[in-house]
Amino acid sequence: MGPLSIREVSTTIVDLPLRRRHTFSTARVELQSYVIVRVRSDDGQEGVGEGAAPGGAWWGTATVESIAAVIDRYLGPALLGSDPLALEEVDALLRRTAPAERSARAALNMAVLDLAARSLGIPAHQLLGGRRRSAVPVAWALSADEADAPGDEVDERLGAGHRRFKLKAGAGSPAHDVARVLGVLEALDGRADLIIDPNGAWDELTAREVLRELSRPGVALMEQPVPGWNHQALARLTGQGTPAIMADEALHTPHDAAALGGLRAGDVWSLKPQKSGGALALRRVAAVAGACGVRLYGGTMLETSIGTAASLHMFCSLPTLAEGCELVGPLLLAEDVVRAPVEYRDGNALLPEAVGLGVELDEDRLASFARPTTMAQVGA
Ligand code: MN
Repeated sequence: MGPLSIREVSTTIVDLPLRRRHTFSTARVELQSYVIVRVRSDDGQEGVGEGAAPGGAWWGTATVESIAAVIDRYLGPALLGSDPLALEEVDALLRRTAPAERSARAALNMAVLDLAARSLGIPAHQLLGGRRRSAVPVAWALSADEADAPGDEVDERLGAGHRRFKLKAGAGSPAHDVARVLGVLEALDGRADLIIDPNGAWDELTAREVLRELSRPGVALMEQPVPGWNHQALARLTGQGTPAIMADEALHTPHDAAALGGLRAGDVWSLKPQKSGGALALRRVAAVAGACGVRLYGGTMLETSIGTAASLHMFCSLPTLAEGCELVGPLLLAEDVVRAPVEYRDGNALLPEAVGLGVELDEDRLASFARPTTMAQVGA
């Protein structure tokens, strides 16, 4: 038998309801959209991947519509005829075809990784260096309402085993944010620590002021206090004590990692396959972090169980992941597109051990949440 060959690539956009509204500094989300990518080889095997853009276009990597369009028109056709087991070759081909389209490449690389692992009858992490851990602690993403008046959600999530909470900031005044953090700290009463994430909403002086106010036990990490472009300010805020500084929007590619590492910008770096362009690029970013002595954290785009499972295979095969992860997508979604969602236990996300990504696409759910195809038509 000759090498396998990819013969079909298709995309489906789905809109899934969340259990409750999720608020970022600039967006409120009630429905979350995803593009589900399917790659089929000539022996009939199928791999599934996912692209996500939490809350639409504001985060800045892509939208589900742009991801689907780039795959349908450019990356999918380019991939036809490729051997799905040649993961580096596939990654290089996709990078040549659409260098700036990292979200679309991540979705497609994810589907090819699933297909390759299924063809070999092994879980995906075995193609990424193998399992180093089988569970990752998950930081719980507090809703904005809960942050204003901590109550049931905090108790419920402490009960579920979460020992770290993440609080979005930057939507109101810095003074209001500080007051909210102090309120949540009081409710937590030392039982969990906090990550504050204003998604780059502050300028350097504001960030410095807030950091001074929040330099206290229980505030573990300040994520991306300044805009992603401002590497110099991020570097100046780093290494000042607690809370530690985490880079997210500033860090996408291995080249970003080299630049941030040279500046000593960020005590911790947040990894997301969509920022880097897939599993192999994410591992290259992680390698630079290791070489620079920077700690790692597993970020999320609020993926479904497909993208979350893929991230778990990547995060669980890294040499180190000192700060845990925030893979809460399946916990926030009221509906998923797989038969059995990713599992959680004692505040940890569990690495799926079945073949491929370890989750099975549910055709009926996919069909029921698929966005109707729209078509521009003269006279309609
Ligand atoms: Mn972030």
